Amino acid sequence: MGAETLSEFTHRRLNALGIRPRKGLGQNFLIDQKIIDRIIEAADLKESETVVEVGPGIGALTRSLVQTGAKVKAFEIDEILADSLPEALGNPANLEVIKKNILECDIAGYLAETPYKVVANLPYYITSPIIRLFLENAKKPTEMVIMVQHEVAQTIMAKPGDMSLLALGVQMYGNVSLVTKVSHGCFYPAPKVDSAVIKIVPYEKEVLSSGDSAKFFVLARAGFSMARKQILNPLSHSLDMPKDDIRPILEAAKIDPTRRAETLSIDEWLELFSHFKGVLK
Ligand code: SAM
Repeated sequence: MGAETLSEFTHRRLNALGIRPRKGLGQNFLIDQKIIDRIIEAADLKESETVVEVGPGIGALTRSLVQTGAKVKAFEIDEILADSLPEALGNPANLEVIKKNILECDIAGYLAETPYKVVANLPYYITSPIIRLFLENAKKPTEMVIMVQHEVAQTIMAKPGDMSLLALGVQMYGNVSLVTKVSHGCFYPAPKVDSAVIKIVPYEKEVLSSGDSAKFFVLARAGFSMARKQILNPLSHSLDMPKDDIRPILEAAKIDPTRRAETLSIDEWLELFSHFKGVLK
């Protein structure tokens, strides 16, 4: 690329392909190499490793992923971008572009025997489903370094007092940390809001079995079904159980029935689940 900036590269590629960024596909391309360098540093990829990129787009991040020597499997839904990517990056031997909607992919099938990391500037309209796809998968990544909206990063990293179903859904599976905040000016086109890169490291040992996990989230969804209400009410309403049956369960789990779902810690949810497990369908 010589002295060409990332912004110039992006515009040159878009012009050559005769296309514009597709808003509906969450196409906000990274045009700041410093942010890409931070992502690469956080992912700490080795040549022997496999990395999954969701939405390589024009290939700004992909190019740096390829340079680490790791095996890159990039899933891109946009046919024009997917078809043109290998050539645009000089047909690297360690790049495989898979022209598919990531949400319709059997990840385990694509990654059979290999441990893998996920590194991506996510399409924001499907941030949660993509995170769930990987964290709830039988074949989980060893690490995820992902760009999300700053507000979503804060939601995911929330502490008791501000917990949500999304925070619980991520923190139940792994440790989350902030890599860096990213200004909206680092993208083309610039989105309205700032972003953040976060790192999720899934626990080596699962907290719950997959069967229990499904039941656990029936309970959690019920708990969060009425924003800011005392937990007794949403549990009773959503689980279709009389309050008088729920009170003793909360008491056994040492959870005051007047507390809100947002205030419970992961350990408290797990304790509550251990007392509810038998009664959940
Ligand atoms: N990685 C590039 C970058 O950082 O500049 C592009 C990131 S852009 C935020 C998101 C990318 O995800 C776009 O290229 C978009 O076409 C792609 N995408 C959107 N929905 C997708 C889906 N369901 N499956 C795979 N890729 C998708």
